[in-house]
Formats: sequence, C-alpha cells, structure tokens
Amino acid sequence: MNTVTQVEDQHTMKTMTCEQLGGACKFQLHGSSADEIVKAQDKHLKEVVAGGDEAHKTALEEMKGRWKHPISGLRWYKKVKQDYAALAEA
Ligand SMILES: [Zn+2]
Repeated sequence: MNTVTQVEDQHTMKTMTCEQLGGACKFQLHGSSADEIVKAQDKHLKEVVAGGDEAHKTALEEMKGRWKHPISGLRWYKKVKQDYAALAEA
C-alpha cells in the first residue's frame, strides 16, 4: 500500500494581526498567502480610516507610500513574507 501525503501550503490559512503589519490594532487578518494578508490589511486600513479612525492614518499612508517607493516597500513586503512563513500552520 502506497500512501502519499501532499502538503499544499497555498491552502493553509494563517492569521496575522494588523499590528504585525505596522497597524494600530489587533484586528486579525486571515489569508492563505502573505499576499492575501497584505490585501486584507490594505482593505482593513481603508475601512477603518474611512470610518474616521485616526490611529490607522499613518499606517494607511505608509501602505500607500510603499507603492511609490518600491525599494523600502519591498523590504517591508519581504519582512511580512518572512513573518508569514515563520508562523505555525494552523
Ligand atoms: Zn487595525
């Protein structure tokens, strides 16, 4: 009998917090990749700032700035990917 166990990383959901991505609260972001977490954070920042939250304004500005400054933005992005990869799989 031959049992093959396949581990598909891309289907593993992980959780990071707003704080871990430079935000101002402990809002939980779920995603099956670092990219999804970043997208969730982007959405979260826009939503809370649109709702009048002052504490997240800096983080939102930084997030916007990352696309204008690819070098420093990439460094942040790599850090997020590393942190994501280091998380224990749920
Ligand atoms: Zn937040």
